[in-house]
Amino acid sequence: RSRAVATLLDAEAEHVAHNYHPLEVVVACGEGAVLTDVDGDEHLDFLAAYSATNFGHGHPRLLAAARAQLERVTLTSRAFHHDQLAPFATALAALVGKEVVLPMNTGAEAVESGIKVARKWGYRVKGVPAGRAEIIVAGGNFHGRTTTIVSFSDDPEARDDYGPFTPGFVTVPYGDLDALRAAITPDTVAVLLEPIQGEAGVRIPPPGYLAGVRAVTREQRVLFIADEIQSGLGRTGRTLACEHEGVVADVYLLGKALGGGIVPVSAVVADADVLGVLEPGTHGSTFGGNPLACAVGREVVEMLSTGELQERATRLGERMRVRLEGLLGHGVVGVRVRGLWAGVDIDPALGTGREVCEALARRRVLAKDTHGSTIRLAPPIVITEEQLDAGLDALADALAEL
Ligand code: PLP
Repeated sequence: RSRAVATLLDAEAEHVAHNYHPLEVVVACGEGAVLTDVDGDEHLDFLAAYSATNFGHGHPRLLAAARAQLERVTLTSRAFHHDQLAPFATALAALVGKEVVLPMNTGAEAVESGIKVARKWGYRVKGVPAGRAEIIVAGGNFHGRTTTIVSFSDDPEARDDYGPFTPGFVTVPYGDLDALRAAITPDTVAVLLEPIQGEAGVRIPPPGYLAGVRAVTREQRVLFIADEIQSGLGRTGRTLACEHEGVVADVYLLGKALGGGIVPVSAVVADADVLGVLEPGTHGSTFGGNPLACAVGREVVEMLSTGELQERATRLGERMRVRLEGLLGHGVVGVRVRGLWAGVDIDPALGTGREVCEALARRRVLAKDTHGSTIRLAPPIVITEEQLDAGLDALADALAEL
């Protein structure tokens, strides 16, 4: 530890709530897929802020959009109109093939908003009796940290001692279409799912599952809400992970990369028959849809609209998949890859995911473990082939050390 690092970490330990257990690196600046620490050492970012920096750090186009808007106006609240909201919403709706955007800030807010909209749709449109709306969710889900959202988490770490919890949620095993079908009642208003479960370790459902969910929900007049906060916006090689199965959900929840790694921007995107249930005064956010967020979000949408980033994620992801599958039997017992996103199960006999991430960090590659012996790789999609190879070489090397 350098003196600079020690001083910052000591102050952090004293004055910051200990709700995270970060790797011991203190970042001072970043560019592309490289993070430079306070001592001037460079690290490869293999997490991309949980996919919030899909475009890398300090992308010139995103910085330019942010800077230009900083000089104009940054916050009006929704009490007034501003000239950035309509262009952003129009572009985002077009990108995902929907009509209406509800702008929010964080992912959890988008999820909360999606839940509120689905319930209201259930009462107003579907005719569910007051107070009875049910939403079906999947085991192993991660949708955020608010009280309502942790109410339907099955992770004790996320839930314990935060009750009493919000009722109205039914959990079925992820990937089990029969269980989902059996759980639907006349009071079911929505099925809320991650098309790929990120925090659970990049869990990809069996082929046909999402299409099956789509068919069942359509048949039973239930909204299909796809939480694409981590899986969406280029990460899997598509704009939306649902596209891999040709599935069109009723409601998309977006966040993370929508703010270009600069500002928190999230959104609920759906057609007017669903989002139309919101009336003035019934929902809102002081910062939701602010001019700075909209200016950055619109640039993000424009960058995604050419499909180049998605193609790059596919191409680099294939390269990563081949390398990772080569590690099977060499400390790795399972690999799941979709686009430039991988869950890698480490042989528990060798060590924990945390130990692998620490060994990687010593080699100046930053990644994150999840659930015991799994690590998740999600470098910025702008990463170069050389950087990707260097990171994967470091992983092979770290595994050999354990
Ligand atoms: N939904 C999914 C699928 C996520 O992965 C996350 C964050 O990891 C969230 C929601 C919550 O987003 P936020 O941390 O911005 O509230």
